[in-house]
Amino acid sequence: MTTTSTDVTEIQHFINGARNAGSGTDTQPVYNPATGEITGQLHLASREDVDQAVAVARAAAESWAETSLVKRTKILFKFQQLMTEHTDELAAIITSEHGKVLSDAAGEVARGIEVIEYACGISQSLKGEFSDQVSTGIDVLSFRQPLGVVAGITPFNFPVMVPMWMAPVAIATGNAFILKPSERDPSASLLMAELFQQAGLPDGVFQVLHGGKDTVDALLEHEDVDAISFVGSTPIAKYVHETATKYGKRVQALGGAKNHAVVMPDADLELAADHINAAAFGSAGQRCMAISVAVAVGEAADALVDKLAERARGVKVANGTEPGADMGPVITPASKTRIQKLVSEAEADGAALVIDGRDLVVADHENGFFVGPTIIDKVHREMSAYTEEIFGPVLVVLRVDSLAEAIEVVNANPYGNGTAIFTSSGAHARTFTRRIQVGMVGVNIPLPVPVAWHSFGGWKDSLFGEHHIYGPDGVRFYTRGKAVTQRWPEPASASTASFAFPSN
Ligand code: NAD
Repeated sequence: MTTTSTDVTEIQHFINGARNAGSGTDTQPVYNPATGEITGQLHLASREDVDQAVAVARAAAESWAETSLVKRTKILFKFQQLMTEHTDELAAIITSEHGKVLSDAAGEVARGIEVIEYACGISQSLKGEFSDQVSTGIDVLSFRQPLGVVAGITPFNFPVMVPMWMAPVAIATGNAFILKPSERDPSASLLMAELFQQAGLPDGVFQVLHGGKDTVDALLEHEDVDAISFVGSTPIAKYVHETATKYGKRVQALGGAKNHAVVMPDADLELAADHINAAAFGSAGQRCMAISVAVAVGEAADALVDKLAERARGVKVANGTEPGADMGPVITPASKTRIQKLVSEAEADGAALVIDGRDLVVADHENGFFVGPTIIDKVHREMSAYTEEIFGPVLVVLRVDSLAEAIEVVNANPYGNGTAIFTSSGAHARTFTRRIQVGMVGVNIPLPVPVAWHSFGGWKDSLFGEHHIYGPDGVRFYTRGKAVTQRWPEPASASTASFAFPSN
């Protein structure tokens, strides 16, 4: 049952430097998942709103690209400072709409700020190359220029970090950026827009449009949008990639995941259990890098499951604002129902339910969307709990006999976002990291999210497009190369034109 808070906020777009309700008449409720209350009414952008924002962005992109690198970078330094000063405020907004615990929300902001810091050093990445005297009196230089107007479409699970994977790099490289955040937790994007403005960013370089499929379609189809960055579930990533490509845009579309942690018998099982517990249940399992499958090799299995169960029983599930809370609710009632159903199906399929969080009720939060930590052992690959991305606090355990079998299991999975191996053997770690068909690999590290100066991206159904996100790949994605071959003839060395390929 949902109720309405006494204090419902109207959540508007941010177009051309100001909050704006837009011309659309549709709105959608925003919830606090810990209480089940409606806390906001979100305006959904119409096609006219999209046209307006894109026209503003187009004009802003032209003057922004002409703004010197030094001036652009100074604004990013200021923005970094403001984001740091407003970390607690941003974290509180995230927790109120997403549900994750405050410390985790602050951690998300910190990881977003890391990308801003990378973007502050963008001058290094935009230096270009120069070849002197490639032919007599001729030099070649190559450099990268911005695309123009780029849009970012982001998921609910990181309402600050994922927009920050995109916007700082897009803006630092000279583009105007339109953010279409998740409609489930949209408010942090407005504070970020205001902080960009306070930092001195010209109006129109960073804008926010709210909405769902209709708004996304309007951006994908718009002839004046040059590129799309998308992060979300695999079916939508695929759709966005196909549609944006059809409309001639550059596109990177990051999708869903099923991340395996392989635990070898030679691993430190205490360390493995501590880290897998945190990586499976942190943020209620709603991370694209969450560990959702433990692959227990040989004799590691019984001891590992016991240790995982012991730790899962100690996870404190509560409103994310409560001090000491480890884990908050999931995002919607529909999400809760889907998770409960997948757990029930695994039980019916014959898997062993070690810890069952389906019916957890948090005191004084009876209407909250809570699911407790759940561990399902002896899961087989054909079960829906394994084939589906559960995206909740559910860890399934598969038992295999060898490292080779574990690698085969991970490689056969259609997703390829993140994976980890827990081992004390360098040889096992090396074999695993070389043979595994996954984009981000951890050795005794369960959530191997690359730092901002490397790039983030999965393989197979976890990413559609050629570019990973942020870091060097982000710079390549938001710019295109230009090579200039030039001659400045002086009378004494003036060359003659040739009908054949020049050879001097
Ligand atoms: P989602 O795919 O439902 O939504 C993502 C975005 O797409 C939102 O902005 C949403 O408004 C929009 N959207 C939704 N339906 C659409 C449609 N039919 N047409 C066009 N646009 C549509 O994802 P979510 O539930 O917000 O986020 C969770 C998913 O995101 C999980 O699958 C998770 O693994 C994935 N994710 C992946 C990464 C990664 O880096 N690979 C990072 C974070 C989240």
